[in-house]
Amino acid sequence: MILVAGGAGYIGSHVNQMLQKQGYETIVLDNLVYGHKEAVKQGILEIGSLGDTARLEEIFEQYPIEAVFHFAAYAYVGESVKDPGKYYNNNVVNTLHLLDVMARHGVNMIVFSSTCATYGVPEQIPIVEEMEQRPINPYGASKLMIERILSDYHNAYGVHYCCLRYFNAAGADPAGEIGESHTPETHLIPLILMAAAGDRENIRVFGTDYPTRDGSCIRDYIHVTDLADAHIKAMDYLKRGGKSACFNLGNGVGHSVLEVIEAARKVTGREIPVILDERRPGDPPALVGSAKKAEKELGWIPRYGDINTIVSHAWNWYCNRKY
Ligand code: UDP
Repeated sequence: MILVAGGAGYIGSHVNQMLQKQGYETIVLDNLVYGHKEAVKQGILEIGSLGDTARLEEIFEQYPIEAVFHFAAYAYVGESVKDPGKYYNNNVVNTLHLLDVMARHGVNMIVFSSTCATYGVPEQIPIVEEMEQRPINPYGASKLMIERILSDYHNAYGVHYCCLRYFNAAGADPAGEIGESHTPETHLIPLILMAAAGDRENIRVFGTDYPTRDGSCIRDYIHVTDLADAHIKAMDYLKRGGKSACFNLGNGVGHSVLEVIEAARKVTGREIPVILDERRPGDPPALVGSAKKAEKELGWIPRYGDINTIVSHAWNWYCNRKY
């Protein structure tokens, strides 16, 4: 069985869904602080925190777990700056609990949800895995710490791991069963769609004076279903003896904030009122990732790379969302 820690969240729920479709038995462990129980349509849902070692022990005793997917983390950059203790405790300390319980039960395979935020402000794009990682906020720092812990645990205790550094996760299950739902919502595409639907007045463009083609920030948006696919390919890679490693997951193509708004106008056919605003502190001008390593080593090729497809699946979910 596969343990999906944080499997009621946005990316974890899509991975759980894909594992189930491929015939795996899954246990989702989630504290439901940000996750949604409605997002866990298949598999066993165990409510609990990684901080609760006794609960973890119980779960590892109860189920024959062979591998762990780890998504259980807080992921609001702004909040991490205001309250770093919350991030280091939940993201780092609780991962140590998980790794220790895994070790006690002889489970030595983990696919970890990392982020391009570990790179900070890159010196060049596209970003490749070997580039220096200098996170500029506690969220990115907490994920980088876990990457380092995994590397040390690999060397000392033989833990096999893949760290998957996502660029901007976006879109929703093409069948519309599950999708993105954050409270509060801070991500660009859901906010644009709220403005398109009339559920908020406008979308604010954070910064129009960046050194980019139209002055707004450029990001590499990657479909959540493609991310899910990469996770399962990462587990298969470890199972066939692949070397523990970190992989970028992006399309290798950047879109500016203004371009994403334009794509949303086209997809939704709605007016989207825009306010040109100040820069948001901590935003690098451009983040685009090269995923050549994942392509070569994992055999991963994104299927839904087109920004219009990404926005259209997100819009379909937004209009019919169930949570
Ligand atoms: N962004 C924006 N307006 C918003 C939210 C986000 O202009 O209301 C911009 C943000 O500055 C960044 C991009 O959209 O350049 C993606 O932001 P998001 O928060 O979705 O993801 P992040 O890149 O922070 O992981």
